Amino acid sequence: MITEKKTQFLVDELDQLKKDGLFRPLRVLGSAQDTEVVVDGKRVLNLSSNNYLGLTTHPRLKSAMVKATEEWGAGSGAVRTIAGTMTIHEELERRLAEFKHTEASLVFQSGFTANLGVLQSLVKEGDVIISDELNHASIIDGIRLSKAERSIFKHRDLDDLERHLEKHRDKRVKLVVTDGVFSMDGDIAPLAGIVERAEGFQALVMVDDAHASGVLGKNGRGSVNHFALDGRVDLQMGTLSKAIGVLGGYVAAPQPVRDFLIHRARPFLFSTSHPPGVAAAGIAAIDVLLAEPERIERLWKNTARFKAGLKRIGFETGASETPITPVIVGKGSVAMDLSDRLFSLGVFAQGIGYPTVPEGRARIRTIVTSVHTDQQLDRALEAFEQGGRELGVIA
Ligand SMILES: *Cc1c(COP(=O)(O)O)cnc(C)c1O
Repeated sequence: MITEKKTQFLVDELDQLKKDGLFRPLRVLGSAQDTEVVVDGKRVLNLSSNNYLGLTTHPRLKSAMVKATEEWGAGSGAVRTIAGTMTIHEELERRLAEFKHTEASLVFQSGFTANLGVLQSLVKEGDVIISDELNHASIIDGIRLSKAERSIFKHRDLDDLERHLEKHRDKRVKLVVTDGVFSMDGDIAPLAGIVERAEGFQALVMVDDAHASGVLGKNGRGSVNHFALDGRVDLQMGTLSKAIGVLGGYVAAPQPVRDFLIHRARPFLFSTSHPPGVAAAGIAAIDVLLAEPERIERLWKNTARFKAGLKRIGFETGASETPITPVIVGKGSVAMDLSDRLFSLGVFAQGIGYPTVPEGRARIRTIVTSVHTDQQLDRALEAFEQGGRELGVIA
């Protein structure tokens, strides 16, 4: 009873969310993350994962994870700086650095903690972080934790970036940070222009390739490789949790960056390292990226087919240039209704509204993967056509 009273303020806030139509219960999967999943007991076609290359269920990753667990145990038992660094953690970092064409890399528990750890520690008072206004929440939070000044430039606007660089010309360290692929719109950062402008001011550049690794560049090396900027981007952050199919975040960078982060990045210093099986599956994923480039080819083929289908039906897909394809419907309530209707038609695709995206730009966010079949994509398009008509989103 006492607890109930103490948490009443939370109940009030939740009631408000419900009134605003923003209360969203978790959707529970009763199956592996695959092209078809069981959601809340119903088998549906899945357009909601970040499992771009189907690696969550790849036999090589699964067996690597099992084997490493048998050999090394279920957990690492300590933070990296005490006794939680096993040879397998170091091997993963060597492989990531080699893959990304950098001198070194450092792995964190997740992409989120990688961004927190880097941004919080690398720069300090008297420095500045210059950040695209649509950067991911983990970048925003990392900047909040940093003592550096924050300076936000307009989305993908190089002239505005230059104004911010000019304004902070005299700062000790200037760090420009951008998503490589933006997670809600699927558009790509103008990285070549960003690097050029930054070089003019000796500013560091950091790119968050959470949605670009495994998707852009040779064998999925990411946006830096995609734009032929190898060696010119100082910090390549990435995640092992999306196209890589497992869990974790990393920064690929020159050796001094790694050495510094080991001494200063708080999620690295104060949180336990990955279970050995996670590291082993990450290594196996890199092997798969190198051995099976046809997965990435198929991802782009499927993306083109699905986008063309949506356009033919009459949907707006915004500025997307990647497999992240927003189906923009306008009002938040329409996005939620369409998502519900799609679900009843056997397609799982989440509605996203304000404040995650601007008001009036609510959408269904879709990601097709390399393992969706043509028949599955056609089925999804049929459901979108029917649901869209019924709700008056398309004519
Ligand atoms: C998902 C995401 C992250 C966080 O990665 P996790 O490994 O899921 O913690 C960071 N940045 C961007 C742009 C993302 O989309």
